[in-house]
Amino acid sequence: MASTTDSAGIADMPSRLEQLCIQKGLKMTEQRRVISRVLSDSTDHPDVEQVYRRAIEIDPHISIATVYRTMRLFEEANVIERLDFGDGRARYEENRDEHHHHLIDVQSGEVVEFTNEEMERLKERIADELGYELIGHRLELYGVRKDRAKSMKTSFKPQLPRTE
Ligand SMILES: [Zn+2]
Repeated sequence: MASTTDSAGIADMPSRLEQLCIQKGLKMTEQRRVISRVLSDSTDHPDVEQVYRRAIEIDPHISIATVYRTMRLFEEANVIERLDFGDGRARYEENRDEHHHHLIDVQSGEVVEFTNEEMERLKERIADELGYELIGHRLELYGVRKDRAKSMKTSFKPQLPRTE
């Protein structure tokens, strides 16, 4: 908590996302730097509202409109990725090099990241068998923890696609 208001530190060291923005040729204003810092420091896939709340802890002059505009700009520059976990709130994460997927705990809303080689190969094979070369995919898993599944009270209500 203590270091979040230390704006001198922010001026010194560019976040990973800021460096990426500079590489992409984006002009980095002070507010954009703060927002990129917040996104770089977040590991929990925040929505715009959450990014805004974290940003104003660093710079109280940042408006929610600026956060929306900046996030859209970052998204268009492909430095952040927009995620859809089916509950109507867009979440964001920094675009990292390594590919991963998400499992969403529908009781707590917690997001677990995972990778799976076997699944990556399977996707290639499915596309191949259908006569396609795979150029992209999206996959989210939704679950309840086994130790809590019996007493399921869902606070998080994604519009889940049917599994038949
Ligand atoms: Zn992620």
